[in-house]
Amino acid sequence: MKWLLVLLIVLGGVWWLRQTRRGRHQRPAPPPQAAASPTPEGSTRPMTQCLQCGLHLPLEDAVQGPQGHYCSAAHRQQHDA
Ligand SMILES: [Zn+2]
Repeated sequence: MKWLLVLLIVLGGVWWLRQTRRGRHQRPAPPPQAAASPTPEGSTRPMTQCLQCGLHLPLEDAVQGPQGHYCSAAHRQQHDA
């Protein structure tokens, strides 16, 4: 009778492990959404592209030229030349 009780405890432990594993499998889905929440802040930052080299950079870091934006003053001069 004792080993039957042990068997029940073991089965209960296996069942509990399966339940917790299911919980872990269900939980990984929300973190990407939680991790995605900081990215909208980055995506709302206006981006532009260097006319000379095609580099994508934040608009606030771009060098304004007569025809568009550049990643640096050197590329603005190269493109104008
Ligand atoms: Zn450039």
